[in-house]
Amino acid sequence: MIDTEKMPVVAFRDDELPTIKSAHSDSSEFEQIMRILVVEDEKGISNFLKEGLEEEGFAVDFAGDGRKGLELASVNDYDLLIFDWMLPGLSGIEVCREFRKLNQTAPVIFLTARDTVQDVVFGLEAGANDYIKKPFEFDELLARIRVQLKSRTGEQTLLKLGNIEMNLDTHRVFRGPQEIELTPKEFSLLEYLIRNKGKVCTRTNIIEHVWDIHFDSDTSVIDVYINFLRKKLNPNRKEEELIHTIRGVGYIARDE
Ligand code: CA
Repeated sequence: MIDTEKMPVVAFRDDELPTIKSAHSDSSEFEQIMRILVVEDEKGISNFLKEGLEEEGFAVDFAGDGRKGLELASVNDYDLLIFDWMLPGLSGIEVCREFRKLNQTAPVIFLTARDTVQDVVFGLEAGANDYIKKPFEFDELLARIRVQLKSRTGEQTLLKLGNIEMNLDTHRVFRGPQEIELTPKEFSLLEYLIRNKGKVCTRTNIIEHVWDIHFDSDTSVIDVYINFLRKKLNPNRKEEELIHTIRGVGYIARDE
């Protein structure tokens, strides 16, 4: 006789998954975790930013020189990047220019002690979205970060995938006329897949954005959640499968 009470794997909830830790409080459990890269060579400023941004619920990576910064910016998927202007290796301007050459559109904010009009123009021409002058107040930087993130995600509150509609305001999901009940993690996972509709989402992308943990962690939990999601979105297997598996890589959401 199998005692299902002792088999958490049969029906575990978000908070029972052993390898998953949420850095977030309950109030933000539905939100996507925004990832920020900070490229800054002054330890004092890096530490100050790390503490402040993490407290605000952002996931933050750091690089202490331009080359390392460009490398991280090229391989990872950040929602926003903060570049110091004067850096060893490559300058913030050079990093930004190279980053834009990779067709990356994530917003970039410059931190700079330089503030002549010409410098600012130079920075914006290199592809920066905004700049902030050192020394700065953390609250001002935070406000500028929020403006950039908001204009990037827009005011879009209704996301669609085929006949699936998710309302980010009410947190309700419908497939056709049928409402689908999702847990907060399933909701975040579906939101991430739909926001990236038509693009392959690697397990690493997913785990970093939906769970806020790094890629050296076990990513098999993603497959478990994808299965939960598929079953809920298509309980009788009568609907089209809109979340497709890309073998060995990850998943892709498509309208058909
Ligand atoms: Ca510097």
